[in-house]
Amino acid sequence: MHYGHTLQFGTFVTPSNKAPEAVVALARHSESLGYDLVTFQDHPYQSAFLDTWTLMSWVAGQTERIHIAANVLNVPLRQPAVLGRSAASLDLLSGGRLAMALGAGAFWDGIAAMGGKRLEPAQAVDALDETIDIIRGMLDTSETLPLRYYGDHYRLKDVQRGPIPAHNIPIWLGALKPKMLRLIGQKADGWLPSYSYMKPGDLEKGSRIIDEAAVEAGRDPREIRRLLNISGQFAAQRGGFLNGTSQNWVDDLLPLVVEQGIGTFILMADDTKLMEQFAGEVVPALREAVNHEIPEPTLVAMRSSAARAKRREGIQYDSVPASLANSVIEPGDVQYGRVKSTYMRAGSPGIVIQPKNVDEVVEALTFARQHPNVALSVRSGGHGISGRSTNRNGIVIDLARLNKIEVLDEATRRVRIQPAARWMDVALALEPYGWALSSGDYGGVGVGGLATAGGVGWLVRDHGLTIDHLKAVEMVLADGSVVRASDDENPDLFWAVRGAGANFGIVVSFEFEVDEVGPVGWAQLVMDASRTASFLEGWGEAVETAPRDLTSFLIMGQPRGGQPMVAHVLSMVNSDQPEVIIDRIQRIADVAPLYDQSVVITSYANVMANASREDHDGQGEPSSRSGLIEHITREFAAAAERLIRSGAVYFFQIRSVGGAVSDVGADATAYAGRSANFSVAAIGANRERLNAQWDKDMAPHFNGVYLSFDSDQRPERIHDAFPPKTLSRLQDLKLKYDPQNVFRDNFNVAPQRVAEAAP
Ligand SMILES: Cc1cc2nc3c(=O)[nH]c(=O)nc-3n(C[C@H](O)[C@H](O)[C@H](O)COP(=O)(O)OP(=O)(O)OC[C@H]3O[C@@H](n4cnc5c(N)ncnc54)[C@H](O)[C@@H]3O)c2cc1C
Repeated sequence: MHYGHTLQFGTFVTPSNKAPEAVVALARHSESLGYDLVTFQDHPYQSAFLDTWTLMSWVAGQTERIHIAANVLNVPLRQPAVLGRSAASLDLLSGGRLAMALGAGAFWDGIAAMGGKRLEPAQAVDALDETIDIIRGMLDTSETLPLRYYGDHYRLKDVQRGPIPAHNIPIWLGALKPKMLRLIGQKADGWLPSYSYMKPGDLEKGSRIIDEAAVEAGRDPREIRRLLNISGQFAAQRGGFLNGTSQNWVDDLLPLVVEQGIGTFILMADDTKLMEQFAGEVVPALREAVNHEIPEPTLVAMRSSAARAKRREGIQYDSVPASLANSVIEPGDVQYGRVKSTYMRAGSPGIVIQPKNVDEVVEALTFARQHPNVALSVRSGGHGISGRSTNRNGIVIDLARLNKIEVLDEATRRVRIQPAARWMDVALALEPYGWALSSGDYGGVGVGGLATAGGVGWLVRDHGLTIDHLKAVEMVLADGSVVRASDDENPDLFWAVRGAGANFGIVVSFEFEVDEVGPVGWAQLVMDASRTASFLEGWGEAVETAPRDLTSFLIMGQPRGGQPMVAHVLSMVNSDQPEVIIDRIQRIADVAPLYDQSVVITSYANVMANASREDHDGQGEPSSRSGLIEHITREFAAAAERLIRSGAVYFFQIRSVGGAVSDVGADATAYAGRSANFSVAAIGANRERLNAQWDKDMAPHFNGVYLSFDSDQRPERIHDAFPPKTLSRLQDLKLKYDPQNVFRDNFNVAPQRVAEAAP
């Protein structure tokens, strides 16, 4: 039987410690000859050999492409959880080039001499079985709980999993006996015997046992790659199996591929001539002969049954269009741990689709529409504070691959930006032109979420909201149509997108007119806020009365035991004139004594370069509240002090807004909170506690909310964010553009009239 695997070739290099550089040279030579894999035997009790794991790590650092494996690892002398961690680490460091080939153990005297436990053969297979479970558990970062394992041989309690490897590390077993073969069928990804240890018929017999065990375990036998260590010599005349000309070798190996399903041959040789002839003559001729015999490989890529077992109910995985097959990440896939959560929230979606282009976005949305009862999240940069760009058991359309930034026209400063671009990259791309786009304060935030909601950042008082620079969008609507919206095309949609975009479709590109912005003043002050209420009031007044070129944000939290209350005040002055910068910052510095200060002239891009590019690893549920306010009144400041000192919040922030934001009419865009001079936000650890205090003591002071800073899913927030006239218009447009309410999972404006929706 042929199992449909693409043909691969490897070498088997002796890890002799006599000439370590020669071992590494053979590995590098294998790579340069085009081999797919280099492998090393592992006998830790043998002083003649280098330690195999160390050697593999070194070789990984000395090569670029070739995959690396032991042949095979001596499991009894290697602790399984450490092995899992080591495997993930080496795979990550090598860019996804590790395979785990494991052995149950042999040479028990040597193992016992090294302090390993002497096991009977059956026990050794059971221990290997447990080792596989543990390695898989360590590599499974789709699970949120730490790894617990209670086996007969190994016990693990609450072990942190990970790191997430770069690719799905296959586990192959070196085996000949039935119990091991059955284990391969049940759990492994490959069988790696040596041909020289086999008797005629052993390959068929072994494969039969593996296949039966696989089927019994609910697996497809094609999931299991068949590898074979081979050795031989080249000669002018045929002298036996793998002893003769290159053509004789091809004739010997071809039936092993076609009839026995061998997918990988590993040449056991330290002889460069042999390696060269095999790579140069046998490999291409064998490939050609195989292609001739099996023109259509039956299998290109297959999701293992273990991965399929993690699929979620309610999602029709088999109806994912073939064109999206390479754009889908499922809970059983190795990349899942990188995409399941967002910056603020732990998620466990059933499927994450990462379209490569607009057509694929349409296809992904069509797939999502076939699941009307499954949660649908749209993700750009994954920084949504509400955390709705992930979900539990639902569908995520993750636009991560759509992150291009292009200048369309230098004369009019028109730029086109795709939704998953990060604001730090936007700032960096615009800097050489002497431009900037008013965005947020954090470089890691994505364009998609922010530019469909508002955009309150370091230039907001001088240059307004991000959406105020938007000239057009291209978006995929709920019915799958792709439309442009601007002042001239679908102007009603364009109005809605600027403030309530998440309810109307998936924006796949934004066109902005950006501003000329040169070097800026950037001040970071640590201020005495022990007289909290009067400090807040003083800061508010200083900001409100300052010219628009000053934008200032403050951050506070309850001080740790015995420490004074401080405020971190971060301010940008849109000027490169020292006297202007000093004048603006002095107004703030006069409010209270300073503990620390730093004032520099720098670029907007430098200020925005404040984020990492790590995968999101949000934990739990976000709990954030927010409100817009016109002035920091005495009463509000007192309420804010009570909130901060209560311990209900660990993060309290006030941002200045106003200025250019208020130049735009409240009904010019769906973002209606134009009269506010400040945006307030607080994050707490306990949602009920935060809500109780916020609703009672803080909410009465507000006149609107910027939803991007809130995580409260109660329907009242929609009414806070959108005054009746705005909401009514949004609901009419929702009826027009998304009557089935496909886009409903993030602060939903339902397609109905205001009167019906009122809480
Ligand atoms: C650390 C941090 C700092 C922040 N600083 C600021 C700030 O300074 N100023 C500010 O205004 N906001 C700020 N925010 C809030 C931020 O703007 C919003 O959370 C925004 O939604 C994040 O955008 P994203 O693309 O990264 O988010 P995502 O989590 O990817 O998306 C958030 C939501 O936006 C919608 N959405 C995303 N992409 C699209 C799209 N292409 N088309 C239609 N809808 C879409 C979806 O409903 C999604 O749930 C900050 C957030 C964080 C976590």
